[in-house]
Amino acid sequence: MKVIEHIQKAKSTLFSIEILPPLKGKSIQSIFDGIDPLMEFKPSFVDVTYHREEYLYKKREGGYLEKVSIRKRPGTVGICAAIINKYHVDTVPHIICGGFSREETENALIDLQFLGIDNVLALRGDSIKSEPEFVPEPNGHHYAIDLVKQIHHMNNGKYMDNELADVAPTNFCIGVAGYPEKHFEAPNMISDMKYLKAKIDAGAEYIVTQMFFDNEQYFNYVKKCRDLGITVPIIPGLKIMTSRKQATALSKIFKIDIPQPLLEQIEKCESDEQAKEVGIEWCIEQSKELIKAKVPCLHYYTMGTSEVTRRVASEVF
Ligand code: FAD
Repeated sequence: MKVIEHIQKAKSTLFSIEILPPLKGKSIQSIFDGIDPLMEFKPSFVDVTYHREEYLYKKREGGYLEKVSIRKRPGTVGICAAIINKYHVDTVPHIICGGFSREETENALIDLQFLGIDNVLALRGDSIKSEPEFVPEPNGHHYAIDLVKQIHHMNNGKYMDNELADVAPTNFCIGVAGYPEKHFEAPNMISDMKYLKAKIDAGAEYIVTQMFFDNEQYFNYVKKCRDLGITVPIIPGLKIMTSRKQATALSKIFKIDIPQPLLEQIEKCESDEQAKEVGIEWCIEQSKELIKAKVPCLHYYTMGTSEVTRRVASEVF
C-alpha cells in the first residue's frame, strides 16, 4: 500500500522508521534483528536509505596509490523485498540522482515495480566526498525535481523510449525531502521552499523532513509550506541522540541546530549512557507534542539503534 493511502486511512498518528543497509559483508539478519523489536508498534512503512559509491585510495605494491570505487552499504532494493516478504510491511526505497543516468533510473524503477514496491523517496543525494559540489552523471539528473518528473512520467506510461508499444504505467507514490532549517546549499529559506513547492507540483505526494530537535522548527516550517500552497502531508523525521559527541556531530553532518536546553543537558552528562537517557527523554517529549499537534506520522531515523527507538515508541504509541 502507498504511504499516502496509509496516511489517508489513519485515525491517529502513524509510526514509521528509516533504516540503513548494513555494511557490505553483513547478513540480512542484522536488518531483521533491528526491525524485530519494533514490529509490536506496527510500522506503517519502512524506509531504506541508498548509499552511493565512495572513492578510496588503496596502497599497492611499490608504494603507489590506486583510486578505487566502493559501495559500503549496497542492498537497498534487496532489503526492501526481504522486509516485504518477511513482515508484510510496506517499504520505501530511497532513490537518488547521484551515480545514476536517466536510463539506469528507469531500469531501477522497473525492478521496484516488478517486486511490488509502490513507494519511493526521490532525492538528489549528496556530492561524493572527493567532489566539492554535486555532479550529476552524464545524462543523469541534477536535482530531485528532475527525478520526480521522470517517475511521474513513468506513472503516466511515458518511458524514455517513446516508441515502446503497450507500455504498462508504473504506480509509485513519490515522497520528497524537506528541510525545516533550510537545505545547506540553498541561499535562503524562500529559495529552498520555492524548489520544494516545485517538487510537489511535479508530482510528489508527501514530504519527510530532515531531523530536528526543536518542534517549533517543524511547526514554523509547516506554516510556511501551507502559506505557499503546499498542501501535502509533512512527516516529521526524528532522531534520538545517543551519545555526547552526537550533539556536535549531528549539527555538523546534517546542518541543524541543537536547542540550547538539550545541549546543556548533554554537556552535563558524564557518560554516553547518561547522554542516551537524555536523548530518549527529549525525543519522547518531542514525539508527544507532535502527536498532540496531530502530525500524520512520526518517522524515526533508527540509524542502527532500534533499542532506543523501541524505548521511545513504547512511551508514545
Ligand atoms: P533537491 O530537492 O534537489 O535540493 C538540493 C538543493 O538544490 C537545495 O538547496 C534546493 O534548494 C536546491 N534546488 C532544488 N531544485 C533546484 C533547481 N531546479 N535549481 C536550483 N536549485 C535547486 N541522501 C542519500 O544519499 N541517500 C539517502 O537515502 C538519503 N535519504 C534522505 C532522507 C531524508 C528524509 C532527507 C531529508 C535527506 C536524505 N538524504 C539522502 C540526503 C539528501 O540526498 C541531501 O540532503 C541532498 O543534499 C539534497 O537532496 P534533496 O532531494 O533534498 O535535493
